[in-house]
Amino acid sequence: MDLHYKSTRNSNLRVTASEAILTGLAPDGGLFVPETIPTLDVSMDEMKNMSYQETAYVVMKQFLTDFTEEELKSCIRRAYDSKFDTEEIVPLVKVDNTYYLELFHGATIAFKDMALSILPHLMITSAKKNHVENEIVILTATSGDTGKAALAGFADVEGTRIIVFYPKNGVSRVQELQMVTQKGKNVDVVAIHGNFDNAQSGVKAMFEDQQLAKELAENGYQFSSANSINIGRLVPQVVYYVYAYAKLLENEEISKDEKINVVVPTGNFGNILAAYYAKQMGVPIDKLICASNENKVLFDFFQTGTYDRNREFVLTSSPSMDILISSNLERLIYLSAQEDDQKTKKLMEELKNGGVYEITEDMKDRLKDFVAGYATEEECAENIKEVYDKTGYVMDTHTAVASYVCKKYQENTQDAKKCVIASTASPYKFVKSVMTAIDEKYADVDEFELLKVLEDTSGREMPQAIKDILKANILHTLECDTDQMKETVKHILNV
Ligand SMILES: *Cc1c(COP(=O)(O)O)cnc(C)c1O
Repeated sequence: MDLHYKSTRNSNLRVTASEAILTGLAPDGGLFVPETIPTLDVSMDEMKNMSYQETAYVVMKQFLTDFTEEELKSCIRRAYDSKFDTEEIVPLVKVDNTYYLELFHGATIAFKDMALSILPHLMITSAKKNHVENEIVILTATSGDTGKAALAGFADVEGTRIIVFYPKNGVSRVQELQMVTQKGKNVDVVAIHGNFDNAQSGVKAMFEDQQLAKELAENGYQFSSANSINIGRLVPQVVYYVYAYAKLLENEEISKDEKINVVVPTGNFGNILAAYYAKQMGVPIDKLICASNENKVLFDFFQTGTYDRNREFVLTSSPSMDILISSNLERLIYLSAQEDDQKTKKLMEELKNGGVYEITEDMKDRLKDFVAGYATEEECAENIKEVYDKTGYVMDTHTAVASYVCKKYQENTQDAKKCVIASTASPYKFVKSVMTAIDEKYADVDEFELLKVLEDTSGREMPQAIKDILKANILHTLECDTDQMKETVKHILNV
């Protein structure tokens, strides 16, 4: 049966999976969602012995029904190959009775690689399928990790260009270097004088700008998105939750049908939404625990039912979660409103205009699977040190936020279910914050020297991604104000 996608703001807008991937954002500003969330048609028992690639096929074929078996398998094969530094692709590491699902073994050492290694292949296949002749321009706003992962994925991919906007002072040194040293004749990187929300809003405005779309089309271009608003980002992320559960079973850490909890360090709400989709597909997940840093807009939302972004934006040591407008929450709002497109549209307009909306009690009731928590900067740092001292395991700052929230949840509720923590970045990417958390004496040590110290401390070899930036040249120096993003894009594309 063919699964179609519709916009969260207009249920009559119905497209195929490949059309949804090509478009990114729906023309009405809504997000594409599957008409129904499909269920797995292979039992967990059968999945126990599958490789990551095989699991990916079993999961993704349910969502991308207009891809042939050959097309989808080819995309999967090209994505999950030796770009990853382990054949397992996502190792599940047991530390002190908790399971860290390490999603950072890809080319850019953050979990964005899980989806962005495959998105370019899905995009090209979709373009062929739909006889697209325009060059596809990927516009991306990044809080640090998406940018590099998208650049690496799309660099020199024929028929595409990619432009990445990142907040000038809102990313780590390693993150910035990774982006500004990116090679490729179709890539551009722009630092904006603003934060991630400014970057994301600017990009969204360009997607919704019909006049701009027309000018682009006249010049043989069309936009698409590599942000997690693109369903082609979300679907590959469902895979690793299914895989993690199958691995727990295979390793006899859990028994058949035993429920687990999942803890996700959350920013734009893409990763945790993928976990929710996995649950809807039939994976025995009980609670979805949403972990925030000091930008705890999601924590407040789950507590009160009111989403309010009118607050101070805090720059933290987990910059990829420094977000006040979590785009993917719209998909959950839509589900909680029982797929009421007009209601969703109204709430999102309230968010856009006044920065705040409130959901009804009924809607709130339908979000009972979610639990929220947050960690302050100190709690995050203390947790890195505590887990390191106790077990020798070194985590990055984002993972540490989740790990802290997990610990607090277990203490407060006595819920003894096994927990899988989505481990979203390599500690190398945030080496300064990580090493300073372990010992304050590193606060004044040069970041590049610390990379060696981290190697000794963690016993984890320095990843290739880090070795690469140590000797790469800076190729991108473009900067712009937040109100110049559109002009900058037009300039880059020469339209
Ligand atoms: C993007 C990112 C997150 C947040 O993920 P969302 O899907 O945006 O919620 C968390 N940690 C790291 C390291 C990231 O790169």
